Amino acid sequence: MRLAYVKGPPVAVFAGSWRCSTSPVDGVPIALGEPFGDCDPGVAKLISIATTVRYVKLMGAKVYVSNSLGEEGVDAAFAGGADGVLEELSHAWGEYKEGAKFVVFSTSDVAELVNAVRGVAERAGRPFDVLVATSFDKAHVFVPYADGIVVTGGWVGIELAEVSRLPEIGRCINCGVDYLMYSGSLRRCIYCGRRLIRVISSTRPPRSRAVFRSVFNKYKGLSSLRLKIV
Ligand SMILES: [Zn+2]
Repeated sequence: MRLAYVKGPPVAVFAGSWRCSTSPVDGVPIALGEPFGDCDPGVAKLISIATTVRYVKLMGAKVYVSNSLGEEGVDAAFAGGADGVLEELSHAWGEYKEGAKFVVFSTSDVAELVNAVRGVAERAGRPFDVLVATSFDKAHVFVPYADGIVVTGGWVGIELAEVSRLPEIGRCINCGVDYLMYSGSLRRCIYCGRRLIRVISSTRPPRSRAVFRSVFNKYKGLSSLRLKIV
């Protein structure tokens, strides 16, 4: 099904190329309103996870997810820039455990968190990193007090809709413009002259965390995208 990104934040992160015949590469931002691929509508959930992780990253946090998201959800999280999977870390919940590098806290407010952390530290007498398990809407409260956030839910709402045409899209990262080529064809940005990058890609990089991470890093500075019809 040819799909556009019709509702959600101004910029989302695409994930789920493995459910598409035509699509961007996983980790590539897509703009609100933009047609982006020929995919199973189930990619909405994957785009939602990737986008949520990106926005928590932009708050300045390290972001972890649980493997209860399933293989596809975890891959989507890495497309959004996730730093790791909780179950793959040496961790303990709420109390220090011998050998743990991370202690995960789940609290309702900052005072409760910092006092719980101090209590654990007094008993542990060992260094550990503090992770806070929380939903997306609360993440900003805890980011200044934690070494990382484990996102447990509250995923950003993403809606997709079927469209009749899928134009070629050329992107200028410098200007933050996506050229939707419904009639014309451009190779260079009309504002700055730089060569445009194709958003919908024919290349299929391997479905690996290292690849997701490098694509995320390439675009992490891109905060807005304007659509231009040509
Ligand atoms: Zn430009």
